[in-house]
Amino acid sequence: MTRDVHPRILIVEDEKDIVQVLEFALRQAGFETVSARDGGEAFARIREKAPDAVILDLMLPDISGTEICRQLKGNARTATVPVIMLTARSEEVDRVVGFELGADDYITKPFSVREVVLRVKAILRRGVAGEAPPREQVGPIRLDTEAHRVFVDSQEVDLTALEFRLLETFMARVGRVQTREQLLRDVWQMTGELQTRTVDTHVKRLREKLGSGRDLIETVRGLGYRMSDPAEK
Ligand code: CA
Repeated sequence: MTRDVHPRILIVEDEKDIVQVLEFALRQAGFETVSARDGGEAFARIREKAPDAVILDLMLPDISGTEICRQLKGNARTATVPVIMLTARSEEVDRVVGFELGADDYITKPFSVREVVLRVKAILRRGVAGEAPPREQVGPIRLDTEAHRVFVDSQEVDLTALEFRLLETFMARVGRVQTREQLLRDVWQMTGELQTRTVDTHVKRLREKLGSGRDLIETVRGLGYRMSDPAEK
């Protein structure tokens, strides 16, 4: 058996029917699944073996999904594990909060199982396929993609998983304007004008963390953002 090569997906959800439907579809698609009914179980499963991705419901009997997400993203061992949040329509606020806590994607209930499978595949593929790799160094900013670390003037900077991906995207596209819609699509894997403020919020925060490198991410008025290399000006 080649069981170990199947990506392991942890489903954290207390509604049995949803878990069953997701498990069936994900297994059909070649994933290994484990499930947890609440936060306590979720952390127990993660301690046993870190999953490759987590599908996380917001409403759980003990701890909220957002709190679980915050803990996962705040722990070095699990910070890079992608998290897909399941939310109900009425949870707009929580949804945004989820993103600010570093969730990598979200799916609104009721969802199509097919869509969930596609999102899981997309999130696992992310960063592997696609465009040119990001530059290692732009001005004072140095990116160590493999180790998932960022340094500015040789000082390490602590970024959330999302900020890291945003910076990585900028460093892969130096000198090219990125619209908010592009960034939403490529960094957040979302579409929709309503969410573009999210981009501004995170760019602002990322800039603040970049210290002397902050001005390398320029605001291109009416368009979006661009990272420029001072050596190329
Ligand atoms: Ca639930």
